[in-house]
Amino acid sequence: MATKNILIVPGDGIGQEVTAVGKKVLDAIAAKFGHEFHYDEALIGHVAIEATGEALPAESLEKMRKSDAVLFGAVGHPKYDNDPSAKVRPEQGLLKMRKELGLYANLRPIKLFDELLSASSIKPEILKGADILFFRELTGDIYFGEKGRKNDGDTAYDVAEYSRYEVERIGRKAFEAARTRKKKLCSVDKANVLETSRLWREVIQKLALEYPDVEVEHQFVDSTAMMLIKNPCRFDVVVTANLFGDILTDEASQIAGSMGMLASASIGDGTGVYEPIHGSAHDITGKGIANPLASILSAALLLDISFGMKDESDLVISAVDQVLKQGFRTVDIADATTKPENILGTAAMGEAVLKFI
Ligand code: NAD
Repeated sequence: MATKNILIVPGDGIGQEVTAVGKKVLDAIAAKFGHEFHYDEALIGHVAIEATGEALPAESLEKMRKSDAVLFGAVGHPKYDNDPSAKVRPEQGLLKMRKELGLYANLRPIKLFDELLSASSIKPEILKGADILFFRELTGDIYFGEKGRKNDGDTAYDVAEYSRYEVERIGRKAFEAARTRKKKLCSVDKANVLETSRLWREVIQKLALEYPDVEVEHQFVDSTAMMLIKNPCRFDVVVTANLFGDILTDEASQIAGSMGMLASASIGDGTGVYEPIHGSAHDITGKGIANPLASILSAALLLDISFGMKDESDLVISAVDQVLKQGFRTVDIADATTKPENILGTAAMGEAVLKFI
């Protein structure tokens, strides 16, 4: 039995809808296993800008620092997507949270539930057995380097920068994870062109000497993008830089059938943040049809990684598996074989998972 403080940060759009379901699942786990989970809530993104003028108010950051783990939803609003010149933007809240909490490693497990083989746009025989753990570096690269305009605003630049230390700390996390899995690590870069990638490769090669039991391969990002679709089963643990990881993990989401199925953990040396990989999905916000399974699976990651509650985490994952086996689907993962009465909305899908827990 444990007592934990969990901060719920729903953010914007469907973030609000799916995080409410993720929290219910945490509640059910606490009741079943006799844990005491205390909750607080904090603002981020568009809702925070509306309330305080800032994308990540100091109060939210303070609450994050004090909590044992954060369950996060998504940020984003059409208002900013159509106005690239807006100075205060929802995604600034996300980047600041990652930077301030020192969340340098983003873990994205990509595993297909067998029942969803037909929901993917990739052929089932190519997908079956795919199980990849991505480590995306989160606090460096082109997103955080110097950026600006010159020549009267007609030329723009974003500087990509990595230090040896930054590559080493994420590299180490990936090697450690590879040791607990198939002892295979693929490091993705663009070392034929980019200097940051040449440093990346040099550091990973040096680290490899400390992990002789792990087989390491280096692959260029362009060919990795191709291989992920052609033969996803050849990958086990993959480690890569911030920009490459951003793109490759969205591509890999198609292996899992939908963005609505994928969870992620952002970890560093302090509080961990757990969130679906999808955004605020304005196109379906307020319709009650968002798939809550990524938030539920994020709660499972939170239990496992931040609290060391493996049994609790496994129960959540198997409840999701059972619900899918029973034929229940949200609209994004339904196909021609799904019975119309089995297509559930956000809340009903949450209730179905809770029933199994
Ligand atoms: P998105 O992930 O919000 O949506 C992409 C597509 O997937 C949409 O068609 C959406 O309906 C669908 N989708 C996503 N999650 C779903 C779910 N749980 N259930 C069912 N369908 C789902 O990406 P986008 O449309 O490129 O961006 C929308 C907004 O989200 C933008 O403002 C963007 O900046 C923001 N965004 C935020 C994050 C984040 O907070 N981590 C990540 C990506 C995008």
